[in-house]
Parts: sequence; structure tokens; C-alpha cells
Amino acid sequence: MMKPNQANGNSQGLELLIEKLHQHYDDQTCDIILNGMREKRVVSLRVNTLKKSKDEIKQALDTSHIMYHDVSWYDDVLIVETKESLLEELDMFKHGWIYLQSLSSMIPALIMDAKPKQTILDMAAAPGGKTTLLAVLTQDQASITAIEAHPIRAEKLKFNINRQGIKHVSVMVKDARMLDPYFIFDRILLDAPCSGSGTILLNDPKTFSYFTQKLIDKSVETQKALIKKAVDLLKPGETMVYSTCSVLPDENDNIIQSILKSGWVEVVPIEDDKWHSIPTLPTQIPGTLLIPPSQYYEGFFIAKLKKKVKK
Ligand code: SAM
Repeated sequence: MMKPNQANGNSQGLELLIEKLHQHYDDQTCDIILNGMREKRVVSLRVNTLKKSKDEIKQALDTSHIMYHDVSWYDDVLIVETKESLLEELDMFKHGWIYLQSLSSMIPALIMDAKPKQTILDMAAAPGGKTTLLAVLTQDQASITAIEAHPIRAEKLKFNINRQGIKHVSVMVKDARMLDPYFIFDRILLDAPCSGSGTILLNDPKTFSYFTQKLIDKSVETQKALIKKAVDLLKPGETMVYSTCSVLPDENDNIIQSILKSGWVEVVPIEDDKWHSIPTLPTQIPGTLLIPPSQYYEGFFIAKLKKKVKK
């Protein structure tokens, strides 16, 4: 087993992470995850095609002498060879022509198969990376409701929506567990609050300083309640996506198992060829996606579920 670099910071968070990984995975898988957490992650941006084309953004990057690379699974994304802080100085960022977003974080919205005219619910939306991607994918022609429980984060969400020139998103500051099942939706995204274990970087102690058993337990409790509510709010026969930036089965496979037990949903396997270039790890539930942390990707879990017409 590989020992992580414990030179700095909160060793308790790190010890807990290693303990949790070894509870669930064999040594080889633990090494893949921990080695991925040692990597310096790439910077990626998403072109806001409601405002600019990818070619226009490429030209602007050329002018700023910033190198970039395409990604095979989504046209309007670029990996850029610069720091986020430098991109934030550029007009393209200030005017909302681009959104800085990790590669993994785009995948749940892309998997939703969202279409114009649909009613879409984003149950845990701030700061809005996935809400705004859903708006782009539907040419701002869907009716999107974005829920965020925390008022300050909801302000950030509204700011990002406005900056990207998106019109058809309504933001509600609310605990999504309390949503009234008066409205039901064609598509639901539950990008659940989680421990963030997939975003930990071993060389950056602040990324694991909040990682505690209490946080995992609280996240699991909220995830279970939120996914139950999501299924209540989904139209029969339609699909939802559950995702977390955690690599722990407690927050992923176990949550999906718990909702499968209700008998109301089935897994829709994520098997489009375009995802084959992304490295994944086996999961307990076939058809779900577990992306290990790496140079390119944050650790992420994604499951697509369909609500049965009858139980
Ligand atoms: N989907 C977002 C994006 O792509 O930018 C990231 C969402 S983040 C993983 C989870 C969010 O859920 C946080 O902003 C958190 O404040 C919010 N949250 C936590 N509990 C919630 C609840 N009960 N109802 C609604 N939002 C909640």
C-alpha cells in the first residue's frame, strides 16, 4: 500500500480518508485513488455557447497566448494551460463567455439528456456549474428550477446565471427536502452535498481539513432524504441523475441501493461509447460511473435512474 505524503496539515482527515478507502477497496484500487490525489489537476473551461462560439474563445485564448486542448466527449470544453486566477482576469471570464468548471463536474448534466421545453429541477445547485450547463444544453429554452439551501451560495448561483445571460432559470432558496410535491419534473439533477472526498489533493492540506466522520454521516443522512424527495418529484417514466464528488460507497452505491429498495426506480446504465475514454473504477451497481481522481478528473460518482410508471 502506498503511504500518502503527510508532511503538512490535518493528519486526522488524511488518516480517516485512508481508513475509509481501505474499508471499501482493495490495495490496488486504494493506490489508484491516492495516486490520483497526488496529481496537480488540469484547469478546464466550458464555453458558454449562449454568448460565444468555441472558435471565438479559442481566438481570444490565442491572443492571450494561452495554450488549450480539446476533450473527446464534449465539444464546448477546453483544457487550458494556465491558472484559474489568470483566466479570471480576462474579459471572456468577466463577461460570462466561459465558465471555469472541472471536467468531472460537467458529466452529470451531459448525461441527463435534457431538452428544450422540458421542466428540469436542479436540487442542490450552487454555485451553478451544472445549472448553467443545463441551460446551455437546452439553448435556454427549458424551464429550469434551481434550488439552493444556503442564502449566500444562492446569491453566487444567481450571479453566475445572470453573468452567463441565462433567462429561464428560477432560483429558490430552500431546503430541497422540504419541496412540495405539487410540481413534478421531466428531469431532475441531484448533485448531492457530500464529503468531497473525490476533490481531495494530498499536497493541499486545506482540501482534507474538513473531512470528518461527522461530515460523512451528515452527508449520508441528507443524501438519503434528498434522493427520496427527488423520486417523489420525478414524472413516472422519466429520468434523474444522482452525483457526488465523493469516492466513498457510503455516499454513492449505498444511497442508490437504498432508493432501489423503494421499488420506484431502476438504474439506466451509463454506457454511451463517448464515456469510454474516461478512466473508471468498478462499482457495486452495474451501469453507474465511478471516476477516480487523476490529473484530469476529480473523483466523481454518477448514477442515472428511471422512475417506473408503476411500482
Ligand atoms: N451542483 C452544483 C454545481 O455544479 O455548481 C454544486 C452543488 S454542491 C455539491 C451541493 C450544494 O447543495 C451546496 O451548494 C449546498 O449548499 C447545497 N445544499 C446542501 N443541502 C441542501 C439541501 N437540503 N437542499 C438544497 N441544497 C442543499
